Amino acid sequence: MNHPVLAVLSGCMVLATSAASQAKPVTWTTPSAEEINAVYPEVESLYFDLHKNPELAMHEQQTAAKLAERVKALGYEVTTGVGGTGVVAVLRNGKGPTVLLRTDMDALPIGEETGLPFASHVVVKSDSGTSIPVMHACGHDIHMSSWIGTAKLMATNRDRWHGTLILIGQPAEETGEGAVAMIKDGLLTRFPKPDFALAIHDSANQPVGQVVFAPGYAFAAADSVDITIFGRGGHGARPQNTIDPVIIAARTVIALQTIVSRENNPFDPAVITVGAIRGGTKNSIIPDEVKLQLTVRSYKPEVRKRLLASIERVAKGEAIAGGALKEPLVKVTPAANAVYNDPELTKRLVATLRGVLGQAHVVEDEPTMGFEDFAEFNLAGIPSADFWVGAVEPGKFAAVQSRTDLPQLHSSTWAPDYTPTLKMVMVVETTELLELLGH
Ligand SMILES: [Zn+2]
Ligand SMILES: [Zn+2]
Repeated sequence: MNHPVLAVLSGCMVLATSAASQAKPVTWTTPSAEEINAVYPEVESLYFDLHKNPELAMHEQQTAAKLAERVKALGYEVTTGVGGTGVVAVLRNGKGPTVLLRTDMDALPIGEETGLPFASHVVVKSDSGTSIPVMHACGHDIHMSSWIGTAKLMATNRDRWHGTLILIGQPAEETGEGAVAMIKDGLLTRFPKPDFALAIHDSANQPVGQVVFAPGYAFAAADSVDITIFGRGGHGARPQNTIDPVIIAARTVIALQTIVSRENNPFDPAVITVGAIRGGTKNSIIPDEVKLQLTVRSYKPEVRKRLLASIERVAKGEAIAGGALKEPLVKVTPAANAVYNDPELTKRLVATLRGVLGQAHVVEDEPTMGFEDFAEFNLAGIPSADFWVGAVEPGKFAAVQSRTDLPQLHSSTWAPDYTPTLKMVMVVETTELLELLGH
């Protein structure tokens, strides 16, 4: 426990006991425990405030204002309203690379059930007047609070690095709209163009103290597909006079499953899930139409294209087989592109993080078929890396049989072990930034 950086995470026994022996002595590339502890009270009070006052995607006005005010006070050049509620904070510190660090800002339409003293009780009205509870159930409040801590550490330690730091507060990660909106609004043209882009996400599958990464594809491309199958409704007792869209829909659902199992290369990850099937009103009535709602996930652009084409072919083919008089309607709504962690950048950051935290605490894990709109930076030609930071209290993590027994992200009971997680995120972010800007 004489390791200055690890000592700061003293709540985390896993990290404290096994990493110290493996870790290299701390150099100027990492802030000290004292520096982290000095900024922590401000970071924690912001965390409580943001957690209590969550805002939904593209409604992050108050949240963005809180971030903008703080980075402005630290001497950053701040622009607000980029791509909706987006915040861009630039710190120019001489010649050198330009590095972008993103935090996301949005919360989710979930009623909080953590019972925490700083739990959210926020309920907003939708455009149609229904009540929607709001909660930071994905940990974006963790990301924002530690991002402010990192902003301060970088601003007060300007003698340790040179180049340009761009911190962005991005709206609407959950809906996959925010990164695109900021880029469309000139994020990469009105401001210095980044040489690298970084992000972190808290993990509900890892104990505090663990940093987890996947080189290459890390998050999937996601598309929503809505299929409307048209039949001819009528009396349930006289099926001969109808074209039953329920039967066509049932066959379509089964046939769709053969796309991944029979047409796709098993080494190319792909998912087709029919999450909703809606049709009919009563036992004895054959409806006119049935609607299917699908989510489609993939990594490679060519696989994505083929899956979507196959879905359309299967839907149309089953409609013909069922004698439908009208082609089904197939509507594709893209949600996100696949996140690709630049392998070179990942290797570089992993080596540095391992030097600080110890080999056992920076581990490769399997990628996910979940999505994340951070993909847009790599697609814009900027080498990017998005790592997971463990946020589960280590005792809780050790007590469960399987990771799936833990509250997951987007759960009403997700409560990160916030103190060591906030500190860990600051350590990871500043270490990564100093690796890229500190030479
Ligand atoms: Zn989320
Ligand atoms: Zn998230």
